[in-house]
Amino acid sequence: MQNHNKSAALFEEAVQVIPGGVNSPVRAFKSVGGAPLFIERGEGPFLYDVDGNRYLDLIGSWGPLIFGHADPAILAAITDAAQRGTSFGAATEGEVRFAEEICAAVPSVEKVRLVSSGTEAAMSFLRAARGFTGRTKIVKFEGCYHGHSDALLSKAGSGLATFGLPDSAGVPASMTAGTITLPYNDLDAVHELFAVDGAEIAAVALEPVVGNMGCVPPDEGYLAGLREITTRHGALLLFDEVMTGFRLAYGGAQERFGITPDLTAMGKIIGGGLPLAAYGGRADIMDVIAPVGPVYQAGTLSGNPVAVAAGRAMLKRLREQPPYDYLETQTAKLAASLRESAASAGIPVTVNQVGSMLTIFFTPTANASIRNYADAKTSDAARYARFFHAMLERGVYLPPSQFEAAFLSAALEPSHFDEIAAVAQDAFSTLR
Ligand SMILES: *Cc1c(COP(=O)(O)O)cnc(C)c1O
Repeated sequence: MQNHNKSAALFEEAVQVIPGGVNSPVRAFKSVGGAPLFIERGEGPFLYDVDGNRYLDLIGSWGPLIFGHADPAILAAITDAAQRGTSFGAATEGEVRFAEEICAAVPSVEKVRLVSSGTEAAMSFLRAARGFTGRTKIVKFEGCYHGHSDALLSKAGSGLATFGLPDSAGVPASMTAGTITLPYNDLDAVHELFAVDGAEIAAVALEPVVGNMGCVPPDEGYLAGLREITTRHGALLLFDEVMTGFRLAYGGAQERFGITPDLTAMGKIIGGGLPLAAYGGRADIMDVIAPVGPVYQAGTLSGNPVAVAAGRAMLKRLREQPPYDYLETQTAKLAASLRESAASAGIPVTVNQVGSMLTIFFTPTANASIRNYADAKTSDAARYARFFHAMLERGVYLPPSQFEAAFLSAALEPSHFDEIAAVAQDAFSTLR
Protein backbone atom coordinates (compact mmCIF):
# COMPACT_ATOMS: atom_id res chain seq x y z
CA MET A 1 0.00 0.00 0.00
CA GLN A 2 1.40 3.37 -1.00
CA ASN A 3 1.73 6.12 1.50
CA HIS A 4 0.88 9.62 0.26
CA ASN A 5 1.41 11.50 3.54
CA LYS A 6 3.93 14.04 2.29
CA SER A 7 1.89 14.81 -0.84
CA ALA A 8 -1.21 15.25 1.29
CA ALA A 9 0.61 17.59 3.69
CA LEU A 10 2.05 19.64 0.85
CA PHE A 11 -1.35 19.88 -0.76
CA GLU A 12 -2.81 21.31 2.44
CA GLU A 13 -0.12 23.98 2.44
CA ALA A 14 -0.45 24.55 -1.30
CA VAL A 15 -4.16 25.38 -1.24
CA GLN A 16 -3.40 28.23 1.21
CA VAL A 17 -1.24 30.06 -1.30
CA ILE A 18 -2.07 28.68 -4.77
CA PRO A 19 -5.63 28.50 -6.14
CA GLY A 20 -6.61 24.85 -5.79
CA GLY A 21 -3.03 24.05 -4.86
CA VAL A 22 -1.96 23.69 -8.52
CA ASN A 23 -0.61 25.97 -11.23
CA SER A 24 -2.73 24.39 -13.96
CA PRO A 25 -6.18 22.87 -13.32
CA VAL A 26 -5.52 19.52 -15.05
CA ARG A 27 -2.96 18.71 -12.35
CA ALA A 28 -5.60 18.69 -9.64
CA PHE A 29 -7.29 15.36 -9.03
CA LYS A 30 -10.65 17.12 -9.03
CA SER A 31 -12.39 14.79 -11.47
CA VAL A 32 -10.91 11.59 -10.02
CA GLY A 33 -10.97 12.59 -6.35
CA GLY A 34 -8.18 12.71 -3.79
CA ALA A 35 -5.18 14.98 -3.39
CA PRO A 36 -2.73 15.38 -6.28
CA LEU A 37 0.72 13.85 -5.99
CA PHE A 38 3.71 16.09 -5.52
CA ILE A 39 6.58 14.99 -7.70
CA GLU A 40 10.17 14.96 -6.56
CA ARG A 41 11.91 13.78 -9.72
CA GLY A 42 11.58 11.95 -12.98
CA GLU A 43 13.94 9.51 -14.61
CA GLY A 44 13.34 7.89 -17.99
CA PRO A 45 9.85 6.33 -17.88
CA PHE A 46 9.45 6.86 -14.12
CA LEU A 47 8.06 9.54 -11.86
CA TYR A 48 8.94 9.58 -8.16
CA ASP A 49 6.65 11.38 -5.72
CA VAL A 50 7.76 13.06 -2.49
CA ASP A 51 6.74 9.95 -0.51
CA GLY A 52 9.16 7.84 -2.52
CA ASN A 53 6.57 6.01 -4.62
CA ARG A 54 7.57 5.18 -8.19
CA TYR A 55 5.19 5.27 -11.14
CA LEU A 56 5.38 4.44 -14.82
CA ASP A 57 4.47 7.85 -16.23
CA LEU A 58 1.85 7.84 -19.01
CA ILE A 59 1.42 11.63 -19.00
CA GLY A 60 4.91 12.79 -19.89
CA SER A 61 4.22 16.34 -18.70
CA TRP A 62 1.06 16.27 -20.89
CA GLY A 63 2.98 15.61 -24.05
CA PRO A 64 6.45 17.15 -24.16
CA LEU A 65 8.52 14.25 -22.85
CA ILE A 66 8.51 11.81 -25.78
CA PHE A 67 11.90 10.48 -24.64
CA GLY A 68 10.94 10.37 -20.97
CA HIS A 69 12.33 12.33 -18.05
CA ALA A 70 15.77 13.86 -17.71
CA ASP A 71 16.96 12.75 -21.12
CA PRO A 72 20.77 13.07 -20.94
CA ALA A 73 21.18 14.66 -24.40
CA ILE A 74 18.59 17.32 -23.65
CA LEU A 75 19.97 17.97 -20.16
CA ALA A 76 23.45 18.46 -21.58
CA ALA A 77 22.16 21.01 -24.10
CA ILE A 78 20.30 22.90 -21.37
CA THR A 79 23.33 23.01 -19.07
CA ASP A 80 25.63 24.12 -21.85
CA ALA A 81 23.27 26.91 -22.94
CA ALA A 82 22.55 28.11 -19.39
CA GLN A 83 26.24 28.56 -18.70
CA ARG A 84 26.39 31.11 -21.50
CA GLY A 85 23.52 33.16 -20.04
CA THR A 86 19.83 32.48 -19.59
CA SER A 87 18.25 35.36 -21.51
CA PHE A 88 19.42 38.20 -23.72
CA GLY A 89 16.31 39.83 -25.14
CA ALA A 90 18.23 39.93 -28.40
CA ALA A 91 18.64 37.69 -31.44
CA THR A 92 20.82 34.56 -31.31
CA GLU A 93 22.17 32.15 -33.91
CA GLY A 94 20.42 29.26 -32.14
CA GLU A 95 17.02 30.77 -33.02
CA VAL A 96 17.95 30.89 -36.70
CA ARG A 97 19.12 27.29 -36.74
CA PHE A 98 16.06 26.16 -34.80
CA ALA A 99 13.72 27.97 -37.22
CA GLU A 100 15.52 26.29 -40.12
CA GLU A 101 15.10 22.92 -38.44
CA ILE A 102 11.38 23.49 -37.82
CA CYS A 103 10.81 24.60 -41.44
CA ALA A 104 12.66 21.52 -42.67
CA ALA A 105 10.61 19.25 -40.39
CA VAL A 106 7.17 20.68 -41.17
CA PRO A 107 6.93 21.45 -44.88
CA SER A 108 3.88 23.74 -44.59
CA VAL A 109 5.99 25.99 -42.35
CA GLU A 110 8.03 28.46 -44.39
CA LYS A 111 8.46 31.00 -41.59
CA VAL A 112 8.09 30.50 -37.88
CA ARG A 113 7.85 32.70 -34.78
CA LEU A 114 8.82 31.37 -31.34
CA VAL A 115 6.66 32.01 -28.28
CA SER A 116 6.60 30.54 -24.78
CA SER A 117 3.38 28.52 -24.53
CA GLY A 118 0.87 26.71 -26.72
CA THR A 119 -1.75 29.22 -25.59
CA GLU A 120 0.32 32.04 -27.06
CA ALA A 121 0.95 30.09 -30.25
CA ALA A 122 -2.75 29.43 -30.86
CA MET A 123 -3.80 32.95 -29.85
CA SER A 124 -1.22 34.35 -32.23
CA PHE A 125 -1.96 32.19 -35.28
CA LEU A 126 -5.56 33.25 -34.93
CA ARG A 127 -4.59 36.92 -34.85
CA ALA A 128 -2.35 36.41 -37.88
CA ALA A 129 -5.20 34.69 -39.74
CA ARG A 130 -7.59 37.56 -38.99
CA GLY A 131 -4.96 40.13 -39.88
CA PHE A 132 -4.13 38.41 -43.15
CA THR A 133 -7.68 37.79 -44.34
CA GLY A 134 -9.24 40.96 -42.92
CA ARG A 135 -12.11 38.76 -41.73
CA THR A 136 -13.22 38.25 -38.13
CA LYS A 137 -15.11 34.99 -37.75
CA ILE A 138 -13.34 31.82 -36.79
CA VAL A 139 -14.55 28.25 -36.60
CA LYS A 140 -13.44 25.85 -33.91
CA PHE A 141 -14.74 22.47 -32.82
CA GLU A 142 -16.43 21.25 -29.72
CA GLY A 143 -13.95 19.48 -27.45
CA CYS A 144 -10.85 20.92 -29.14
CA TYR A 145 -8.65 22.93 -26.77
CA HIS A 146 -6.45 25.70 -28.08
CA GLY A 147 -5.17 27.19 -24.85
CA HIS A 148 -6.87 29.67 -22.56
CA SER A 149 -6.95 32.86 -24.63
CA ASP A 150 -10.32 34.63 -24.61
CA ALA A 151 -11.45 34.06 -28.20
CA LEU A 152 -10.70 30.34 -28.09
CA LEU A 153 -12.47 29.56 -24.82
CA SER A 154 -15.85 29.49 -26.48
CA LYS A 155 -18.53 27.20 -25.21
CA ALA A 156 -18.90 23.85 -26.85
CA GLY A 157 -22.54 23.55 -27.80
CA SER A 158 -24.04 20.46 -29.36
CA GLY A 159 -25.62 20.00 -32.75
CA LEU A 160 -25.74 23.21 -34.72
CA ALA A 161 -23.37 26.12 -34.50
CA THR A 162 -23.32 27.93 -31.20
CA PHE A 163 -22.48 31.57 -31.40
CA GLY A 164 -20.20 33.21 -28.93
CA LEU A 165 -21.07 31.89 -25.49
CA PRO A 166 -17.95 32.06 -23.35
CA ASP A 167 -17.00 28.86 -21.57
CA SER A 168 -15.19 30.58 -18.74
CA ALA A 169 -16.26 33.29 -16.33
CA GLY A 170 -14.30 36.46 -16.94
CA VAL A 171 -14.52 36.21 -20.71
CA PRO A 172 -16.94 38.85 -22.02
CA ALA A 173 -19.32 37.51 -24.65
CA SER A 174 -17.89 40.12 -27.02
CA MET A 175 -14.53 38.31 -26.93
CA THR A 176 -16.01 35.08 -28.27
CA ALA A 177 -18.65 36.69 -30.48
CA GLY A 178 -16.64 35.87 -33.59
CA THR A 179 -16.05 32.26 -32.58
CA ILE A 180 -18.33 29.63 -34.08
CA THR A 181 -18.19 26.18 -32.55
CA LEU A 182 -19.16 23.10 -34.57
CA PRO A 183 -19.09 19.38 -33.77
CA TYR A 184 -15.86 17.59 -34.72
CA ASN A 185 -15.86 15.14 -37.61
CA ASP A 186 -19.02 16.65 -39.12
CA LEU A 187 -18.12 17.99 -42.54
CA ASP A 188 -21.78 18.71 -43.37
CA ALA A 189 -21.97 21.21 -40.50
CA VAL A 190 -18.95 23.03 -41.93
CA HIS A 191 -20.45 23.05 -45.43
CA GLU A 192 -23.73 24.45 -44.12
CA LEU A 193 -21.96 27.19 -42.20
CA PHE A 194 -19.75 28.20 -45.13
CA ALA A 195 -22.75 28.29 -47.46
CA VAL A 196 -24.14 31.12 -45.32
CA ASP A 197 -21.10 32.78 -43.75
CA GLY A 198 -18.22 31.74 -46.01
CA ALA A 199 -17.13 35.24 -46.98
CA GLU A 200 -16.73 36.32 -43.35
CA ILE A 201 -14.78 33.38 -42.02
CA ALA A 202 -11.08 34.05 -41.46
CA ALA A 203 -10.09 30.56 -40.42
CA VAL A 204 -10.99 27.06 -39.35
CA ALA A 205 -8.85 25.93 -36.42
CA LEU A 206 -8.64 22.39 -35.10
CA GLU A 207 -6.57 19.68 -33.51
CA PRO A 208 -5.93 17.38 -36.52
CA VAL A 209 -6.05 14.48 -34.08
CA VAL A 210 -7.84 15.59 -30.91
CA GLY A 211 -6.19 14.94 -27.59
CA ASN A 212 -8.23 17.27 -25.44
CA MET A 213 -11.51 15.34 -25.28
CA GLY A 214 -9.51 12.17 -24.98
CA CYS A 215 -7.91 10.82 -28.13
CA VAL A 216 -10.25 11.24 -31.12
CA PRO A 217 -8.90 10.72 -34.63
CA PRO A 218 -10.27 12.53 -37.69
CA ASP A 219 -12.57 10.50 -39.92
CA GLU A 220 -11.21 9.42 -43.26
CA GLY A 221 -11.46 12.45 -45.56
CA TYR A 222 -12.33 14.94 -42.80
CA LEU A 223 -9.07 16.90 -42.90
CA ALA A 224 -9.05 16.86 -46.71
CA GLY A 225 -12.63 18.13 -46.70
CA LEU A 226 -11.71 21.01 -44.42
CA ARG A 227 -8.73 21.82 -46.64
CA GLU A 228 -10.97 21.91 -49.70
CA ILE A 229 -13.72 24.05 -48.24
CA THR A 230 -11.41 26.63 -46.62
CA THR A 231 -9.43 27.03 -49.84
CA ARG A 232 -12.61 27.47 -51.87
CA HIS A 233 -13.86 30.26 -49.60
CA GLY A 234 -10.55 32.05 -49.06
CA ALA A 235 -10.42 31.07 -45.40
CA LEU A 236 -7.27 29.72 -43.75
CA LEU A 237 -6.86 26.23 -42.32
CA LEU A 238 -5.11 26.30 -38.94
CA PHE A 239 -3.74 23.11 -37.44
CA ASP A 240 -3.17 23.25 -33.71
CA GLU A 241 -0.37 20.70 -33.50
CA VAL A 242 0.69 21.66 -29.98
CA MET A 243 -0.02 18.07 -28.98
CA THR A 244 0.45 16.18 -32.25
CA GLY A 245 3.48 18.06 -33.60
CA PHE A 246 6.63 15.91 -33.48
CA ARG A 247 4.55 13.22 -31.72
CA LEU A 248 2.55 11.53 -34.48
CA ALA A 249 5.42 11.96 -36.92
CA TYR A 250 8.46 14.23 -37.14
CA GLY A 251 6.33 16.47 -39.38
CA GLY A 252 3.27 16.09 -37.12
CA ALA A 253 -0.26 15.07 -38.03
CA GLN A 254 0.03 16.99 -41.30
CA GLU A 255 2.80 14.63 -42.40
CA ARG A 256 0.90 11.58 -41.21
CA PHE A 257 -2.33 12.53 -42.99
CA GLY A 258 -0.76 14.35 -45.93
CA ILE A 259 -2.73 17.58 -45.48
CA THR A 260 -1.11 21.01 -45.75
CA PRO A 261 -2.54 23.67 -43.42
CA ASP A 262 -1.87 27.39 -43.90
CA LEU A 263 -0.68 27.96 -40.32
CA THR A 264 0.41 25.57 -37.58
CA ALA A 265 0.71 26.01 -33.83
CA MET A 266 3.37 23.91 -32.10
CA GLY A 267 4.32 23.46 -28.47
CA LYS A 268 4.94 20.70 -25.93
CA ILE A 269 7.56 18.41 -27.59
CA ILE A 270 9.16 21.28 -29.49
CA GLY A 271 10.39 22.80 -26.21
CA GLY A 272 12.10 19.65 -24.99
CA GLY A 273 10.39 20.07 -21.60
CA LEU A 274 11.07 23.81 -21.32
CA PRO A 275 8.54 26.61 -21.90
CA LEU A 276 8.72 27.07 -25.66
CA ALA A 277 6.14 26.98 -28.44
CA ALA A 278 5.87 28.28 -31.99
CA TYR A 279 3.54 29.17 -34.80
CA GLY A 280 4.37 29.24 -38.45
CA GLY A 281 3.20 28.63 -41.96
CA ARG A 282 3.03 30.26 -45.37
CA ALA A 283 5.60 33.04 -45.67
CA ASP A 284 3.09 35.50 -47.14
CA ILE A 285 0.81 35.01 -44.14
CA MET A 286 3.59 35.08 -41.55
CA ASP A 287 4.81 38.38 -43.00
CA VAL A 288 1.71 40.13 -41.61
CA ILE A 289 3.44 39.87 -38.21
CA ALA A 290 5.38 42.81 -36.77
CA PRO A 291 7.97 44.08 -37.44
CA VAL A 292 7.26 43.22 -41.11
CA GLY A 293 3.50 43.68 -41.02
CA PRO A 294 0.75 45.27 -38.91
CA VAL A 295 -0.17 42.31 -36.66
CA TYR A 296 1.49 42.80 -33.28
CA GLN A 297 2.87 39.88 -31.30
CA ALA A 298 5.86 39.92 -28.97
CA GLY A 299 7.51 38.25 -25.96
CA THR A 300 10.29 39.10 -23.51
CA LEU A 301 11.36 35.47 -23.19
CA SER A 302 10.40 34.38 -26.74
CA GLY A 303 13.18 32.34 -28.28
CA ASN A 304 14.83 32.01 -24.87
CA PRO A 305 18.31 30.56 -25.48
CA VAL A 306 18.01 27.78 -22.89
CA ALA A 307 14.60 26.68 -24.21
CA VAL A 308 15.86 26.87 -27.79
CA ALA A 309 18.82 24.65 -26.87
CA ALA A 310 16.45 22.12 -25.29
CA GLY A 311 14.19 22.22 -28.34
CA ARG A 312 17.08 21.78 -30.76
CA ALA A 313 18.42 18.84 -28.75
CA MET A 314 14.94 17.28 -28.79
CA LEU A 315 14.60 17.64 -32.57
CA LYS A 316 18.10 16.26 -33.11
CA ARG A 317 17.26 13.25 -30.99
CA LEU A 318 14.01 12.74 -32.95
CA ARG A 319 15.92 12.84 -36.25
CA GLU A 320 18.72 10.56 -35.10
CA GLN A 321 16.59 8.01 -33.25
CA PRO A 322 13.04 8.34 -34.59
CA PRO A 323 10.79 6.72 -31.95
CA TYR A 324 7.68 6.70 -34.12
CA ASP A 325 7.59 3.12 -35.38
CA TYR A 326 8.42 1.75 -31.95
CA LEU A 327 5.76 3.87 -30.23
CA GLU A 328 3.12 3.04 -32.83
CA THR A 329 3.73 -0.72 -32.54
CA GLN A 330 3.90 -0.79 -28.76
CA THR A 331 0.96 1.52 -28.19
CA ALA A 332 -1.27 -0.33 -30.67
CA LYS A 333 -0.37 -3.59 -28.93
CA LEU A 334 -1.19 -2.06 -25.57
CA ALA A 335 -4.53 -0.78 -26.91
CA ALA A 336 -5.43 -4.27 -28.16
CA SER A 337 -4.51 -5.78 -24.83
CA LEU A 338 -6.60 -3.21 -22.94
CA ARG A 339 -9.65 -4.00 -25.11
CA GLU A 340 -9.17 -7.69 -24.47
CA SER A 341 -8.66 -7.53 -20.73
CA ALA A 342 -11.57 -5.11 -20.27
CA ALA A 343 -13.80 -7.45 -22.28
CA SER A 344 -12.82 -10.47 -20.23
CA ALA A 345 -13.49 -8.50 -17.04
CA GLY A 346 -16.90 -7.60 -18.45
CA ILE A 347 -16.12 -3.86 -18.45
CA PRO A 348 -17.26 -2.07 -21.62
CA VAL A 349 -14.58 0.30 -22.93
CA THR A 350 -13.63 2.00 -26.15
CA VAL A 351 -9.90 2.44 -26.62
CA ASN A 352 -8.90 5.14 -29.11
CA GLN A 353 -5.27 5.19 -30.15
CA VAL A 354 -3.27 7.12 -32.70
CA GLY A 355 0.49 6.70 -32.57
CA SER A 356 1.56 7.23 -28.96
CA MET A 357 -1.72 8.92 -27.93
CA LEU A 358 -4.28 6.70 -26.22
CA THR A 359 -7.54 7.02 -24.27
CA ILE A 360 -9.60 4.37 -22.54
CA PHE A 361 -13.21 5.62 -22.66
CA PHE A 362 -15.59 3.88 -20.24
CA THR A 363 -18.42 3.88 -22.78
CA PRO A 364 -21.91 2.38 -22.23
CA THR A 365 -21.12 -0.37 -24.75
CA ALA A 366 -17.81 -1.91 -25.73
CA ASN A 367 -15.94 -0.68 -28.82
CA ALA A 368 -18.32 2.21 -29.42
CA SER A 369 -17.40 4.85 -31.94
CA ILE A 370 -16.04 8.00 -30.28
CA ARG A 371 -15.87 10.58 -33.06
CA ASN A 372 -16.70 13.81 -31.25
CA TYR A 373 -17.26 15.49 -27.91
CA ALA A 374 -20.86 14.29 -27.52
CA ASP A 375 -19.65 10.70 -28.00
CA ALA A 376 -16.82 11.21 -25.52
CA LYS A 377 -19.27 12.61 -22.97
CA THR A 378 -21.19 9.31 -22.90
CA SER A 379 -18.26 7.89 -20.91
CA ASP A 380 -18.62 7.04 -17.25
CA ALA A 381 -16.19 9.47 -15.62
CA ALA A 382 -16.82 8.00 -12.16
CA ARG A 383 -15.77 4.57 -13.40
CA TYR A 384 -12.69 6.11 -14.99
CA ALA A 385 -11.88 7.68 -11.61
CA ARG A 386 -11.94 4.24 -9.97
CA PHE A 387 -9.78 2.83 -12.74
CA PHE A 388 -7.34 5.74 -12.43
CA HIS A 389 -6.86 5.09 -8.71
CA ALA A 390 -6.58 1.33 -9.21
CA MET A 391 -3.80 1.97 -11.74
CA LEU A 392 -2.10 4.56 -9.54
CA GLU A 393 -2.04 2.19 -6.57
CA ARG A 394 -0.36 -0.35 -8.83
CA GLY A 395 2.29 2.13 -9.96
CA VAL A 396 0.94 3.47 -13.25
CA TYR A 397 0.26 7.19 -13.54
CA LEU A 398 -2.57 7.93 -16.02
CA PRO A 399 -4.05 11.36 -16.72
CA PRO A 400 -6.39 12.27 -13.83
CA SER A 401 -9.32 12.83 -16.21
CA GLN A 402 -11.46 10.71 -18.53
CA PHE A 403 -11.16 13.41 -21.17
CA GLU A 404 -7.39 13.59 -21.55
CA ALA A 405 -5.15 11.44 -23.69
CA ALA A 406 -2.30 9.39 -22.26
CA PHE A 407 1.09 10.01 -23.88
CA LEU A 408 3.43 7.06 -24.18
CA SER A 409 7.15 7.74 -24.24
CA ALA A 410 10.02 5.97 -25.95
CA ALA A 411 11.67 5.64 -22.53
CA LEU A 412 9.14 2.85 -21.87
CA GLU A 413 10.76 -0.45 -22.75
CA PRO A 414 8.74 -3.39 -24.10
CA SER A 415 8.73 -4.88 -20.59
CA HIS A 416 7.18 -1.65 -19.27
CA PHE A 417 4.42 -1.83 -21.89
CA ASP A 418 3.79 -5.41 -20.75
CA GLU A 419 3.71 -4.27 -17.15
CA ILE A 420 1.13 -1.55 -17.98
CA ALA A 421 -1.04 -4.15 -19.74
CA ALA A 422 -0.82 -6.55 -16.78
CA VAL A 423 -1.58 -3.81 -14.25
CA ALA A 424 -4.58 -2.70 -16.33
CA GLN A 425 -5.91 -6.25 -16.46
CA ASP A 426 -5.79 -6.35 -12.69
CA ALA A 427 -7.33 -2.85 -12.39
CA PHE A 428 -10.22 -3.72 -14.72
CA SER A 429 -11.06 -6.72 -12.55
CA THR A 430 -11.50 -4.42 -9.52
CA LEU A 431 -14.26 -2.49 -11.33
CA ARG A 432 -16.75 -5.32 -11.56
C1 LIG B 1 -1.63 21.96 -24.49
C2 LIG B 1 -2.34 22.53 -25.66
C3 LIG B 1 -2.44 23.91 -25.88
C4 LIG B 1 -1.96 24.92 -24.86
O1 LIG B 1 -0.60 24.86 -24.66
P1 LIG B 1 0.01 25.48 -23.30
O2 LIG B 1 1.48 25.36 -23.48
O3 LIG B 1 -0.55 24.66 -22.20
O4 LIG B 1 -0.46 26.89 -23.23
C5 LIG B 1 -3.00 24.36 -27.05
N1 LIG B 1 -3.46 23.48 -27.96
C6 LIG B 1 -3.40 22.16 -27.79
C7 LIG B 1 -3.91 21.25 -28.85
C8 LIG B 1 -2.85 21.64 -26.63
O5 LIG B 1 -2.84 20.32 -26.44
